[in-house]
Amino acid sequence: MREVMTAEAVYRALLDRGAEARLIYIADTYDRLRRLYPFLPESFSEHIGKPLSEIPCPYGCCPSYAEHFLAPFLQSMERLGIRPEVYRADRLYKEGKYNEAIKTALSRSADIARILKEVSGRDVPEGWSPFDAICSSCGRTNTTRVTGFDLEAETVDYQCSCGFSGTAPMSGGGKLVWRVDWPARWPIFNVTVEPFGKDHATAGGSYDTGKRISEEIYGYPAPFPIVYEWIHLKGVGAMHSSTGIVVTIQEMLDVVPPEVLRYLIIRNKPEKHIEFDPALPLLSLVDEYDQRKGDERAIELSNVSKSGPFEIPFRHMVTAVQIARGDQEGLFQALQRSGYDITARREEIIGRARNVQTWLDKYAPDYVKFQVQESLPAAVKNLSESERRGLGLLAERVDDKSAAEIHDLVYAVAAEEKLDSKKFFQAIYLAFLGDRQGPKVGWFLSSLERDFVCQRLGEAARA
Ligand SMILES: [Zn+2]
Ligand SMILES: [Zn+2]
Repeated sequence: MREVMTAEAVYRALLDRGAEARLIYIADTYDRLRRLYPFLPESFSEHIGKPLSEIPCPYGCCPSYAEHFLAPFLQSMERLGIRPEVYRADRLYKEGKYNEAIKTALSRSADIARILKEVSGRDVPEGWSPFDAICSSCGRTNTTRVTGFDLEAETVDYQCSCGFSGTAPMSGGGKLVWRVDWPARWPIFNVTVEPFGKDHATAGGSYDTGKRISEEIYGYPAPFPIVYEWIHLKGVGAMHSSTGIVVTIQEMLDVVPPEVLRYLIIRNKPEKHIEFDPALPLLSLVDEYDQRKGDERAIELSNVSKSGPFEIPFRHMVTAVQIARGDQEGLFQALQRSGYDITARREEIIGRARNVQTWLDKYAPDYVKFQVQESLPAAVKNLSESERRGLGLLAERVDDKSAAEIHDLVYAVAAEEKLDSKKFFQAIYLAFLGDRQGPKVGWFLSSLERDFVCQRLGEAARA
């Protein structure tokens, strides 16, 4: 996600400067299945080594393994407002788009091997070839050895450890190894800017070798590199497929509105790691974006809908959602009662309510969770005389006051009854939630039905 988001921000910035630019996403659908991942059935061990595009969907719902995992990623990009030209590596190979690059690589494999050795310090293994043929008997690419090639016929000869030997077409019969595949696509697509994770940026790593292969073998200047750091999930570690710490974009979009997710990525320089804390700090992040109070340019690049600030604070949504308890009409009423405009941006409100619900279920600290009690909580009996009098006064004076006015009223009544305001807050929460803590009191009380508020305060006063 950080990769496509970074590329897209560069793309938008270039367009803003009047440059001609295209945003390209190449899905590595022709890579081989490396191992039996924990989410795969045991029967899939027979597919290890085969290209992802040639393996069936593990759930039987898509044309291939590759498509099954690509589809949700493409959907998430769409939700994030990222609309690149999407290419699938397997189709590019099958259509012969790489044929010239394959021929060049095979003809100059000794030069490529020398570059790999000079840059990475490692010798290529005996019998190495820049091309991995797919065995037409067992379907694997990690078990074949290239024994020859024919530039005219555009074919590659191979032997497979399964015992088979054959001839594969360059188009659709295999693919270039990663370190050659990457630079090979740069001239094919005229790539000029390429973001990639820091794992490719190490000294002697695949960008370093790719740069030399691009320039010396393909005669094409390597694209401008943008190295990005990982996103760390607070308290868990760096998210990367290799660490096994993975939160899918969809999972993130379940709790973060799309533009805020864009903002999270864009406001940080690519080379800085992002500490993503999905607990309370997430609320501040959303509010920072909604109120347009953060990095101005990052907000501009994130705001694909070109909308103005979003009025309802995310923290207040957390209150309203818990009052509404899954009832959409109830949610709108709660928001309206607390003084927010519910006629505009209803879809966004609904989306955020969904985000908040997931956030409450998965990441919220317990103390922000509450439940309005249907009847007067028994603990109210422990309140003092003056606390009870205070609640009675609130009941009389709350009438049609706004959230901020109720907030002031609570302080005024506390002062009048010579109560510590914090204690008085606790008395109020106790009467409604059966708990000594709760959300911002004025906004909380104003979100509830006013008759109910008066009735409950009165009951508590008389208890
Ligand atoms: Zn599927
Ligand atoms: Zn084989």
